[in-house]
Amino acid sequence: MMKAIQLSTFGGPEVLKLVDIPVPEPGPGQVRVCVKAAGVNPVDTYWRSGANPTLSLPLTPGLDGAGLVESLGPSVTEFAVGDLVYFGGWLTGAYAEKAVLRVSQLHALPAGVTFQQGAALHVPYATAHRALFHRAGARAGDVILIHGASGGVGLAATQFASAAGMTVIGTAGTERGRQLVEAQGARYVLDHTEPHYLNRIPELTGGRGVDVVLEMLANVNLAKDLPLLSRGGRVIVIGSRGKIEITPRDVMMREADIRGLSLFNVADDDLRSIHAAIASGLHCGVLKPIIRDELPLSEAARAHTKVLEPGAVGKILLIP
Ligand code: NAP
Repeated sequence: MMKAIQLSTFGGPEVLKLVDIPVPEPGPGQVRVCVKAAGVNPVDTYWRSGANPTLSLPLTPGLDGAGLVESLGPSVTEFAVGDLVYFGGWLTGAYAEKAVLRVSQLHALPAGVTFQQGAALHVPYATAHRALFHRAGARAGDVILIHGASGGVGLAATQFASAAGMTVIGTAGTERGRQLVEAQGARYVLDHTEPHYLNRIPELTGGRGVDVVLEMLANVNLAKDLPLLSRGGRVIVIGSRGKIEITPRDVMMREADIRGLSLFNVADDDLRSIHAAIASGLHCGVLKPIIRDELPLSEAARAHTKVLEPGAVGKILLIP
């Protein structure tokens, strides 16, 4: 048996229970990992509350983790028992002492990267890379507004974009968050709780506007983002928690694009390329996952409350 967080009904954070359940056995093409750290992402809270109708109960959440390979399913040759790995994706859930994953969801933990950092890689960094390089087609010299730069995805995007020669304008809601965003490479940092903070964008871009907006809260910001774009600019909708009214003319006049992103849609081939970029960035030191809190597995409910509160400064982890 093993300890795991399980929900047997959808609802608030209180439905996350620490229970004893059987250790999962890896099937063909699968691997069991002894989980040393699990990443907490906002999407885990959406799943918990029942927003994903494809899920059935009982369920152990968690899409991000890192640990040691401890058992191989039939026909697995890519990994060996004892390998240090991080993983991204869901099969049995990362909020547990042990998790079973498909081989395609596992990646070697690069030398010098801790289990805690490994558990902060897949969802934030793969999303940030996908947004900048696949969906936005951003390149050196572009100006990128990262609207919500202090959280997991925003900090990853700040690091990726700065290292690739882009000018980052990042936003955060607290002084601590703004200092962190600046330290990760943003050229300018704005406070998204101030009433007129976006009025500075024309001055910061010499009147040209921004080439790309990475938007973490589109239901609040999308209408304000569109007039900030340069001609041919792109808004990448990464996060949204409701509806919003926009002025289509703002897109028309600039021949601008609003593009969605869902990490769940990324093909295995693209994921391999993304994780190669992550490994390279970690190796040469331009990517550095920022850990904000490490909580025991028993405090999963507190982690779910915290991850949705204002004041992000990096990743929250659960330690089994
Ligand atoms: P996170 O770590 O909780 O960070 C949330 C970010 O949103 C923080 O930087 C926060 O800033 C910022 N924020 C709060 N109010 C804002 C406002 N009015 N305007 C702009 N930003 C604001 O979450 P995350 O992991 O970075 O994820 C960000 C969003 O993307 C979430 O909604 C998540 O569900 C979504 N996401 C989507 C995908 C996908 O595949 N589409 C993948 C990953 C994440 P302060 O706390 O400093 O105020």
